[in-house]
Amino acid sequence: MKIGILGCGYVGSVTGAGFAELGHDVLLVDIDEAKVNLLNAARVPVYEPGLEELIARNKARLHATDNVEMLADRALIFICVGTPSNEDGSIDLTYIRSAAEDLGGVLAQTSTFQLVVVKSTVVPGTTETVVKPALEAASHKTAGSEFGLAMNPEFLREGSAVTDFFEPDRIVFGTEDERSQHILEALYRPFHCDKMSTTIRTAEMIKYVSNAFLATKISFANEVGNLCKRSGIDVYEVFRGVGLDRRINPAFFRAGIGFGGSCFPKDVKALIAEAQARGEDPRILRAVIQVNEAQPLKLLELLQRHISDLRGRRIGLLGLAFKPDTDDIRESRAVPVVERLQAEGAVVVAYDPQAMAAFAKRFPQITYASPADVLTSDAVLIITEWPEFERLDYTGKLVIDGRRLAKAKQEAAVYEGVCW
Ligand code: NAD
Repeated sequence: MKIGILGCGYVGSVTGAGFAELGHDVLLVDIDEAKVNLLNAARVPVYEPGLEELIARNKARLHATDNVEMLADRALIFICVGTPSNEDGSIDLTYIRSAAEDLGGVLAQTSTFQLVVVKSTVVPGTTETVVKPALEAASHKTAGSEFGLAMNPEFLREGSAVTDFFEPDRIVFGTEDERSQHILEALYRPFHCDKMSTTIRTAEMIKYVSNAFLATKISFANEVGNLCKRSGIDVYEVFRGVGLDRRINPAFFRAGIGFGGSCFPKDVKALIAEAQARGEDPRILRAVIQVNEAQPLKLLELLQRHISDLRGRRIGLLGLAFKPDTDDIRESRAVPVVERLQAEGAVVVAYDPQAMAAFAKRFPQITYASPADVLTSDAVLIITEWPEFERLDYTGKLVIDGRRLAKAKQEAAVYEGVCW
């Protein structure tokens, strides 16, 4: 099938490369010329394990452009543009709106039936009340008969996005017309996982509720972890026991310094804003965010037990990405930690295997160094659980660990773990 992808970030580039691997002809479109040039040179616009190889292997079937009109010959077009937060936490639909307007112009030029599939995470109702009217107005065509419209939420995780593309837990199709439904079913036939067909609004909601539930598990684990820490109990042992209950899935009870990334914080906040706009007070979700915002500051609390006055003290950070195996720093827990360290007058020295360039754009004033340099600091804070940090030598160091690094615990002269 001729597939088009609008938006070549983490989701768009992995989805495009994945479908090319399955034999489809894929055209990626992005307004960011740098990403387009990288993709056409068979290079990756984002760091994701396995993606570069996948793109290189499929370069004959994978092309990129910044000209949206080139999508005119595509039978199916995925919208994968970003849906960030507004200042108040509500969803910012600027990119979705402009993508839909651009695509409407494309649909206007064609006489064939094209299917537009929203893959971006959007609050329930967006596909039908924002995307559909924009497509119809610009194309002068009717959704459901002259072109197809569907919502197919994406569940991939950064860091394992390529594997997640090929081995998803489930695929959800939100459709309102049979033709769109059949096209999506045919596209996803090679995937042997659970597949669920539902309405567009329900598909949109499934994505938010999945993320909100996982975020809730993490904040719950952190609240329990904070209590366990005070009681001298190992929270991971507690959840190992809790997880043996078949009604409770053991995954994701990850006590630590909280969740970050491009999805959980923004999606929980968007769901809160959506609930409030509809007259509901989502108390659990508000608490999930409150716990998450307080959690990284636990590191500072533990650090100041040992160095109460941080002025002029050299504090090293290991890890800046929001999790291992990504260069993404969106909502990384490193951000509030660095802000607080700077406010306290500390000299911050940091290392991350992939995310230093992105972090330096936001924090040019801190020093970026090798892991060995970071380890010469007065104290070392572990922010991200990159596997390579398990190979460093922590002997004689003061280590404050947000992520449970066994080697650091064994070797450090002084060790404090947020969840250990
Ligand atoms: P991203 O910011 O990495 O990429 C979005 C891309 O869209 C950018 O390259 C941007 O230049 C491009 N873009 C914006 N407007 C455009 C337009 N009009 N035409 C063409 N390109 C345009 O975002 P992402 O992380 O890939 O996320 C995309 C969507 O998928 C979001 O809604 C997100 O919530 C959702 N999602 C993300 C993940 C994840 O792990 N990153 C997982 C599941 C779902």
